Amino acid sequence: MKREALALEVTSVVLGACREFLVNEGFVELLPVVLAPVTDPLRTTPEWATITAYGRPWYLTRSMIFHKQAAVRVHPKIFCFSPNVRLEPVERAHSGRHLFEFVQLDLEVREATRDEVMDLGERLLLHVLSEVREACGQALRAWGREVPHYPRPFPRISWHEARREFGEDFEVELSRRAKTPVWLVDFPISEREFYDREDPERPGILRDMDLLYPEGFGEALSGGEREYEAHRIKRRILGQGLSLEAYGPLLALAEDGLFPSAGFGIGVERLVRFICGFAHVAETRLFPRVPGQDALL
Ligand code: ASP
Ligand code: MG
Repeated sequence: MKREALALEVTSVVLGACREFLVNEGFVELLPVVLAPVTDPLRTTPEWATITAYGRPWYLTRSMIFHKQAAVRVHPKIFCFSPNVRLEPVERAHSGRHLFEFVQLDLEVREATRDEVMDLGERLLLHVLSEVREACGQALRAWGREVPHYPRPFPRISWHEARREFGEDFEVELSRRAKTPVWLVDFPISEREFYDREDPERPGILRDMDLLYPEGFGEALSGGEREYEAHRIKRRILGQGLSLEAYGPLLALAEDGLFPSAGFGIGVERLVRFICGFAHVAETRLFPRVPGQDALL
């Protein structure tokens, strides 16, 4: 089978396996939101994509984080295959992990803790691997790739510990040395966006996490518990030098009442790249959007 066809088959099995797993867990699927009056601040991606329609600007969704927080007011468990546009700096074109349009499986659970969504994330990933092994194991083997088995729970390391042990480039180093997926937890408040919840018992440390793939494939998912109280959200927005007006729609929701929740987003192309063992996420898409590069179609 051609590499491109294999990538399509694996992607299709991955999407089906995620849906099957989450529906069995009691989740409902939300249709994606592409244009919004407010979107994820993502301070490491400074450029914004907007369009003007009906006399006002609309952001192209960077992540559905605020929509997820709003949606769990209606249903306790929601997920979405969410197309995200993030205008990544051109230097990231060669990271192997960045497209400026990608899809993430974004999910959120009302009143869940970080531990609960980490447990869900592990079971989801192992379910996906087992479905892909069954459906595409042979085709992948022909390309020299064996779908791996991993024991649970995956190991955890705190952000501070990882930095102490592996230096500045700890994420790369940790992913390169890991033999199984590994959790990076407890990011310092300055490292993440305002919506990740600060640990009430450990000021300055967040109740959040990333999952890293082994073999150097890098970040798989990001998530955590969320700030949901209006006064805390305001303090966090101001603490990051952002304006309250810009996040008015979120603050209005929070004043009306948000639930505590936790969730994560897992990049679909990164997952397929890892499963296929490809060098770049662009190889997983028929119509990839690589930062700074033109597209044929
Ligand atoms: N959607 C992610 C989350 O749930 C954030 C992201 O997109 O990076 O935290
Ligand atoms: Mg992330």
